[in-house]
Amino acid sequence: MIHFITLSVFPEIFESPLNCSIFKKAQQKEILMFTHFNIRDFSTNKHKKVDDTVYGGGAGMLLMPQPLFDAIDFIKKSYKIDKVIFFSPSGKVLNNSIVKQFASETDKTYLLLCGRYEGIDQRVIDNFVDIEISIGNYILSGGELAALVFIDSVGRFIEGVLGNEESLIEESLTDSLVEYPQYTKPADFRGLKVPETLLSGHHKNILKWKKEKQLELTKVKRPDLL
Ligand code: SAH
Repeated sequence: MIHFITLSVFPEIFESPLNCSIFKKAQQKEILMFTHFNIRDFSTNKHKKVDDTVYGGGAGMLLMPQPLFDAIDFIKKSYKIDKVIFFSPSGKVLNNSIVKQFASETDKTYLLLCGRYEGIDQRVIDNFVDIEISIGNYILSGGELAALVFIDSVGRFIEGVLGNEESLIEESLTDSLVEYPQYTKPADFRGLKVPETLLSGHHKNILKWKKEKQLELTKVKRPDLL
């Protein structure tokens, strides 16, 4: 079981994506578990304020240390946290090898810290964060979607989460190549035909065709992978 605990200002963002399809089933099967905390609930301010202006100037607001320190202290007291992950554009860019590394160990509890506005006070990062992860070279308005991308990509590698584990083996990027083109029925749709080899039933030729297509397409679409 992997337990993902999120800490953000908008916990409601997590509800729908994690409560349908394979992630709903994974929770029922107790393979994955999710707990969502709202940073605002830990604010000692009478207006439940969580952000303030940035020292040294600059536009926008920053999540202030008090609610985050208290929230993380509370969560660390309540659960045995293996790693605190902060989602940030300055982090390591998420890729398949990082995903697999996280998915290789079950029985873990991760605290996923999500920024908002201009981000969070550096003292929170210095005191609590074990790893910073970015999901790509662009800026999001909050860390919640990044946390969801992380949960989704790691979660589906955990045994029992996907219906068909073989799909993991055959998938693109698992051997650093993109996927071969795939077709479903009918074999002839409005005159558009499925490649002969795939209909031949000749297992060896099919494997060869798939590998060739993977190489061919990787060269054209994702030369960076080669
Ligand atoms: N001022 C910050 C950006 C803040 S964006 C900067 O220039 O670096 C607000 C929050 O969204 C961040 O704190 C982070 O948690 C999240 N975020 C934005 N872009 C992200 C990305 N590419 N990957 C992961 N998290 C991101």
